[in-house]
Amino acid sequence: MDYLPVFLALRGRPCLVVGGGSVAARKIALLLRAQATITVLARRAGSEVAALAAEGRLILRERTFAPADVTGYAFVIAATDDAAVNAEIARAADAQGILVNVVDQPADSTAIMPSIVDRSPVVVAIGTGGKAPVLARMLRARLESLIPPAYGELASLLGGLRERVKAALPDATARRRFWEDVLDGPIAELFFAGRRAQAAAAIETLLTSSKTAPRRRGEVYLIGTGPGDPDLLTFRALRLMQIADVIVHDRLVGDDILELCRRDADRIYVGKARSRHAVRQEDINTLLAREASAGRRVARLKGGDPFTFGRGGEEIEHLTEAGIDFQVVPGITAALGCAAYAGIPLTHRDHAHACLFVTAHLKDGELMLDWASLVRPRQTLVVYMGMSGLPALVDGLRAAGMADEMPVAIVERGTTSAQRVLSATLTPVASRAAAEDYGSPAIIIIGSVVRLRDKLRWC
Ligand code: SAH
Repeated sequence: MDYLPVFLALRGRPCLVVGGGSVAARKIALLLRAQATITVLARRAGSEVAALAAEGRLILRERTFAPADVTGYAFVIAATDDAAVNAEIARAADAQGILVNVVDQPADSTAIMPSIVDRSPVVVAIGTGGKAPVLARMLRARLESLIPPAYGELASLLGGLRERVKAALPDATARRRFWEDVLDGPIAELFFAGRRAQAAAAIETLLTSSKTAPRRRGEVYLIGTGPGDPDLLTFRALRLMQIADVIVHDRLVGDDILELCRRDADRIYVGKARSRHAVRQEDINTLLAREASAGRRVARLKGGDPFTFGRGGEEIEHLTEAGIDFQVVPGITAALGCAAYAGIPLTHRDHAHACLFVTAHLKDGELMLDWASLVRPRQTLVVYMGMSGLPALVDGLRAAGMADEMPVAIVERGTTSAQRVLSATLTPVASRAAAEDYGSPAIIIIGSVVRLRDKLRWC
């Protein structure tokens, strides 16, 4: 290790920044966050620094640097645009034993500044010894996505509880288990989901029950994984996928999304095996409850959004009855993903003021739909699960008065690398789809917005 990471306590302590341009301003912003008392020495201050001086947030001295200027400071930052001057500042500070950072000149610095993820009081610092700042920024971006913004607030809440927990749980192992249970389970998730009061109440309950050794409670995450492209996962989906002990998935969730789950998690497939039936919904419900009751964190992955034709409602009804904690993570539903990736806006001032999502699953060879509501003017219709009943759908829409030349698009495997889009009009769409072998999963988009695709297609 070339550098020792430390966190400097600078609150109210005198810090010197030499330089008054935008580079200096970025460093000043960090020192302000650390509540340092800042003096800026610059031949001429730029507008940002001048504005901070005018607000009284720092002391500005407009003159050239002299080595004696560093005396009395706890920390010095050299941020002028002259490398020789910066090196001189560094020598002057070092001669007095003062830590000095020279922006972009690690060789002259006795302190280098890391990339940070600030969830105060939680702060993550990433250093590459000044060798690869871009890599540090990339890692930071990843961590930003993994560490929920509410972590800082949670840490503050827990900080306030430390003394009480210490008093209630004198045994260090019991204490450690208590904190682990709070931070890595339903309580933290309640907190991140914005249910602060429930989280606080659950902490109290846990504190009481922890006097005897607690057992981790399991829970179910009902996660919408979007229509296929893994890049469309939400941060929360990804985070929960990476902590779950068990992954329950079906046919709509692709391998590239499963790849992102925790490596050592158990995987249970509940979709249709080739030519066989899918696991029955009741059995899935039972399975989820059983795994969670055994203390495991179960990620139930659903294509698209769990509450949009996803039977998510049924699964959580069962969990509620079984008294099992759960949370629902919304996902990008197929209609939205497919429309975007096919270049078809679902609403448009000149074409459609409303958009209707329906499912057109054949029941005993028939479609049970409210046809009149599907053919309203200035409305886009998006049909899920409509491929096997496509000829019946077209017949029904025509019978209800939809024009033969109404534009229709079929988006198959939308947002994935295998996406195909068929653009047609109502009358010939079913035979063209059959001729070109279109099949499930596909979304059918019906409405004059489909015409915009020629202008807006981008992938
Ligand atoms: N909960 C899911 C829908 C499940 S129903 C969601 O919100 O998207 C299954 C239907 O979704 C499929 O029959 C198909 O109509 C549609 N679908 C799901 N993924 C799709 C994709 N990548 N491309 C096109 N249609 C998709």
